[in-house]
Amino acid sequence: MNFNEDKEYICPVCGRTFFSQDSYPGCDFCSNHELTIYTNEMAKEINDEIDKMSPLEFRENLKFEPRAQFYYELEKGDSKEQEKSKRSAVYHELLYKKYVYNSPLFDKAKFDMRAEWEYENAVEMEEGYRKRQEEKNKPRCPKCGCTEFQMVPRKWSPFTGFLTNKVDRVCVKCKTRY
Ligand SMILES: [Zn+2]
Ligand SMILES: [Zn+2]
Repeated sequence: MNFNEDKEYICPVCGRTFFSQDSYPGCDFCSNHELTIYTNEMAKEINDEIDKMSPLEFRENLKFEPRAQFYYELEKGDSKEQEKSKRSAVYHELLYKKYVYNSPLFDKAKFDMRAEWEYENAVEMEEGYRKRQEEKNKPRCPKCGCTEFQMVPRKWSPFTGFLTNKVDRVCVKCKTRY
């Protein structure tokens, strides 16, 4: 049996990082096959480097890509998450400095297009997620699951017997009150 391992790669042409199990993987953005294997040691080296940085060096390497900027805006009000995002931005800049910018294969135009593409994917995913959440939070008929209903005033409370200004939902499909 042949179990292919999931390996992570960096594309020196466009800066894309991605996982693949293929024996001859190509970049999932620009299709380039001359890839660098992205190892845990490389990640550790970069993280050690960040830990030793002066605040100035950190600032100098703080470059938000469009996708990172998008998430950073979403995290407004959560300074802990924003700190993590800043570190991640510095991490990526160092990764590119080591394995992308200086590569003879590096292509700035493709690098920028890749960054833009990742941003658009992030926006799309975020919108999809928000829509699914909205759908999930919609009130649903407990009997048939329908989300369409009419509001009907409740004349009196069954608990107190007093008049009330509360409203009931009535399912348009099966007429269940809920
Ligand atoms: Zn690529
Ligand atoms: Zn119903």
